[in-house]
Amino acid sequence: MYAESCAPAIRPLLMTPGHGTRAAYQYDGCRCVDCRASEARYRQQLRAQHRAGTTPLGTVLSPVEAQRRIRQLKAEHVTEGEIARQLGLVHHAVRLSLDGITLRKLLKIRRLHRQVLRDGLTS
Ligand SMILES: [Zn+2]
Repeated sequence: MYAESCAPAIRPLLMTPGHGTRAAYQYDGCRCVDCRASEARYRQQLRAQHRAGTTPLGTVLSPVEAQRRIRQLKAEHVTEGEIARQLGLVHHAVRLSLDGITLRKLLKIRRLHRQVLRDGLTS
């Protein structure tokens, strides 16, 4: 770990995000004009999304609804492997973090849940 007083130039290159990026502002604590502008652009975009009532697909949400829907799918005799296959998960296992789930994954689970309860498992 490098102390705050270390000059950015002596830190390993991989630990230092480029200037003008939000990562440099967030994780490296850089407050140069380019990094502040990047953070401001991100916040402006986020405020616009909130005003429009849209949520970015990468937003992390509570996993409770997803866990409930998966329990219901299993009660309908849909195996974990089949759920994973339908969700397009690479490792063929349904691994849901207890900390959160992305909106993208939750939407996939909702769609599968709706489809199974309406039509049964197809394909
Ligand atoms: Zn910077």
